[in-house]
Amino acid sequence: MGKIIQLDDALSNKIAAGEVVERPASVVKELVENSIDAGSSVIEIEVEEAGLAKIRILDNGNGIEEDDVLLAFQRHATSKIKNENDLFRIRTLGFRGEALPSIASVSRLEMKTSTGEGVGHRVVIEGGKVEVFEKASARRGTDVTVTDLFFNTPARLKYMKTIHTELGNITDVVNRLALSHPEVAFRLVHNGRKLLQTNGNGDVRQVLSSIYGLSIAKQLVPIEGSSLDYKVSGFASMPEVTRASRNYISTMVNGRFIKNYPLVKAVQEGYHTLLPIGRYPIVLLNIEMDPLLVDVNVHPSKMEVRFSKEKELNELVTRTIKNAFQSKVLIPTATPVK
Ligand code: ADP
Ligand code: MG
Repeated sequence: MGKIIQLDDALSNKIAAGEVVERPASVVKELVENSIDAGSSVIEIEVEEAGLAKIRILDNGNGIEEDDVLLAFQRHATSKIKNENDLFRIRTLGFRGEALPSIASVSRLEMKTSTGEGVGHRVVIEGGKVEVFEKASARRGTDVTVTDLFFNTPARLKYMKTIHTELGNITDVVNRLALSHPEVAFRLVHNGRKLLQTNGNGDVRQVLSSIYGLSIAKQLVPIEGSSLDYKVSGFASMPEVTRASRNYISTMVNGRFIKNYPLVKAVQEGYHTLLPIGRYPIVLLNIEMDPLLVDVNVHPSKMEVRFSKEKELNELVTRTIKNAFQSKVLIPTATPVK
């Protein structure tokens, strides 16, 4: 008799969770992405103890219909792609069908969801096991509460950093989602204190202002450029407005925030000698392109991508930043004397 066995669902979900749910901020990211994909216009995020005690995401999106509620917690179950073709033309933030089963396998999760037609449903899952599934009245949308994250993965729980660090990661995630979706009104509350609120009117500058404050937002200039395959746009800080960390350079592709070091370098290259050593600008860079030219299926967290024409893109980014600043700053504009 052979030695190989097929792992059961609970165990394989827990293994997947190791990659998808690294820390509380990953739960926030995945759940909010689901709310955005569901067409929500208002998303409320309520967190306690940096998400280790509680994470609640409330949206007013499509909701999940009765037949799909339990299915949504199965691995590789998704409403967002159907076949291989779709995988190369991804327009939604999710597509892997891994987040819900992963999160539910390492926490106690309660979901109330309704499509707004007929009655809604409530499901409670603990450590991957469905404890309750029942009809429940709910308004249109989805309300997910995750408590006791990592209660059954002690090693992961131990690995958590301070409340301060974990909360910092959560605000980063929410800030980025708000910046990439100015058409959605976000509200982030931690231990009863409001940390962010955006109004969902579609104006990125207002989101920038909610995050960085009005005076910084005023010193961000619009940038725009295009090449054969790419269009870039966004905002970049005047060279005298800098930060001590690269973290303020945010890059997104077709509405998805990504981590891509060459792009960050390309931005810095655009400022060239205008930045003091060890200082970095505040930049929001939005790249639009044919989804065929970018592979988002690189890592379960969907934060990394591969561009098929990377050099063209990096050059475009550098050029766009250069155009915005170099000429203006190096040649001081003469003030007309009257
Ligand atoms: P993915 O987002 O990759 O499809 P998930 O595990 O995150 O996988 O979610 C599984 C499915 O559950 C989604 O495809 C979607 O149909 C449904 N779903 C999850 N969250 C929501 C939500 N907030 N509103 C509506 N539907 C949702
Ligand atoms: Mg998802």
